[in-house]
Amino acid sequence: MIKKYLFYLFRWQLSTPILALVLWALRGYNDWIVTIIANLLGGLVFFWVDRIIFKVEYRNPLWEIKDDIVCVNCGKICKGYRLVKTSNYDRLNDKHPEFRCATCSEEKIKQLNNRGVIV
Ligand SMILES: [Zn+2]
Repeated sequence: MIKKYLFYLFRWQLSTPILALVLWALRGYNDWIVTIIANLLGGLVFFWVDRIIFKVEYRNPLWEIKDDIVCVNCGKICKGYRLVKTSNYDRLNDKHPEFRCATCSEEKIKQLNNRGVIV
């Protein structure tokens, strides 16, 4: 975490040239307007940089487990499993999450692996 924090502080320093350049180019204009423009330009650039810095890596798959679900495959009422997120699979905002029993869940994972949907 400290490494990421130090990198983020360094990243903030990279915005200095943008700020300085805009302040220089628009000298004589209202300080508030110039600062807003500089921050807007910085935001356009560093949104993408910050997105990379704060990207969460999922080394292990994230699962959601619920009691008393109806398995979408076999209809069994039991504890249900749902694969939510892996490094290349994202169902965090799934509006209609599907839960499966342990057996059907294992089968679904095999299918996803075979189709290369998850790694
Ligand atoms: Zn099932």
